[in-house]
Amino acid sequence: MKIGLIDVDGHRFPNLCLMKLSAYHKARGDTVEWYDDKKWYDIVYMSRVFTDTYSKDYAGSVKAYHVIKGGTGYGLDNKLPDIVEHTHPDYGLYPQFAGTAYSFLSRGCPRGCGFCIVGEKEGRKTVAVADLDEFWGGEKEIKLLDANILACPDWERLLGQLADSGAEVDFTQGLDVRLVTPEKAALLNKIHTKMLHFAWDNPEDDLIPYFKKFLELTAVKDKRKRRVYVLTNYGSTHEQDLYRIYTLRDMGYDPYVMIYEKPTAPEETRRMQRWVNNKWLFHSVKDFKDYDPNYMRKGKQAEGLAAGRR
Ligand code: SF4
Repeated sequence: MKIGLIDVDGHRFPNLCLMKLSAYHKARGDTVEWYDDKKWYDIVYMSRVFTDTYSKDYAGSVKAYHVIKGGTGYGLDNKLPDIVEHTHPDYGLYPQFAGTAYSFLSRGCPRGCGFCIVGEKEGRKTVAVADLDEFWGGEKEIKLLDANILACPDWERLLGQLADSGAEVDFTQGLDVRLVTPEKAALLNKIHTKMLHFAWDNPEDDLIPYFKKFLELTAVKDKRKRRVYVLTNYGSTHEQDLYRIYTLRDMGYDPYVMIYEKPTAPEETRRMQRWVNNKWLFHSVKDFKDYDPNYMRKGKQAEGLAAGRR
């Protein structure tokens, strides 16, 4: 069979479903390629992770006997068949990301945060779904897509596999600081990580004791490598956003502002995001009220004037 693939979101991030579908069909002897609208296919798979806010649907016509659409951008109830889900991904589809393995060791999350689709899509219980060797074959980096691996009853086995791999591990969806125990922290300390991510999404949650406790347990001594996502534009006030940002910074973490539904966010929130996430600015300007979006430009102009006077 001739199989065509369409990554509706573009090729900015590898699409795991398409990589697994590609590997599955290639193993069956099928021809697999990126969809070419000058050709005809037996099956075309269209995969879309993002919804309309962040990505447009594919607008062209699709020449195929069967067109199969999947991914969160098309709804929450479509899933890969088990046999495809557990196929080693075809990383060759995205040569620009060579050297990195992607997938899930666990699925689901018990928290049920209102802005998050994981509970509905994957379930309100975290369960182990794979062992590392199912999708890792010695790549230097592992990007884990797990929603809440620390909530998984099999955390010890899964974190142990990551530690034993020696690969650099990126917990892309963050770790749940409330679930860190001395035993879990000890295993996290054995995993090679470029940066650890946490989140402080809800300002009503008092996470300060958990973050303080983690500092006592972690081997990551560089605060720039202890990043915390701060969700904004989801019911929090500007003051609550700033409180989380300042508190995290003062405790020894690196806050990173995420904006829910960015197109609807107030200008003040976007400005705050530019200030916090541009680390040069954030470390140069201690207080948001002193932040001027033209700061860098003015700084450069001032440098230029000073140089001209010399
Ligand atoms: S803790 Fe994270 S993964 Fe779990 S529901 Fe909340 S945002 Fe989603």
